[in-house]
Amino acid sequence: MRRKLAAGNWKMNGLSAALAELDALGDQSASAAEVLICPPATLIAAAASRVSGIAIGGQDCHAAQSGAHTGDIAASMLADAGASHVILGHSERRADHGEDDYTVATKAIAAWEAGLVAVICVGETLDDREAGRTLDVVGTQLSGSVPDGASAANTVIAYEPVWAIGTGKVPTTEQIAEVHDDLRARLVGRFGAEGDGMRLLYGGSVKASNADEIFATSNVDGALVGGASLKAADFGPIIDALNAS
Ligand code: PEP
Repeated sequence: MRRKLAAGNWKMNGLSAALAELDALGDQSASAAEVLICPPATLIAAAASRVSGIAIGGQDCHAAQSGAHTGDIAASMLADAGASHVILGHSERRADHGEDDYTVATKAIAAWEAGLVAVICVGETLDDREAGRTLDVVGTQLSGSVPDGASAANTVIAYEPVWAIGTGKVPTTEQIAEVHDDLRARLVGRFGAEGDGMRLLYGGSVKASNADEIFATSNVDGALVGGASLKAADFGPIIDALNAS
């Protein structure tokens, strides 16, 4: 049985005042679904000490645990600040920072070494989809970005079509199911029971109005939410929809 997961990615948004949104989400200890918020790194420690029943995560980490890497953050630093998860390989990291599958895999190992759960993102571009390459592209990203040693406890996979992120465009539930079913088969093929236990999140323009149908889709175990996670008034109903699914 996979516990559902509602994950929020605040990206590069949020000053201290944004912590009030965590207060507004309230105590989520009784939530059937796990709730995770990934604020900017500057807010992780304050967020972690403020929440109840909400996990806090980073949005990236370096592959090394320390060293001469100006501006980077080690997984152990995220853990030390109170994070339990870290998003890796988000398409914005892949595009803005040239991260490839190998880089993501090395970061995942660093995350595990620090005791963090790696939330590893994969997803096709619009060109990929229109060329009929979606399953190949996403499958290749999955095999290259998820290292050996991945388990249901240490890894979550997020399928995020690049063309759906922040655009308001959402794949049909048939398109989501096709990819999630394929990812599940690949995970089970490679990791057996652990692959069956790994949560598969959908991400890309999830909001309260489309959450119900997305959460009813085959092999969707929750969502990675960007814009609609910034305000409790938007994210709360998404958590509710997941709890009701
Ligand atoms: C994301 O960035 O992970 C994301 C899914 O963003 P949005 O929900 O805003 O499309």
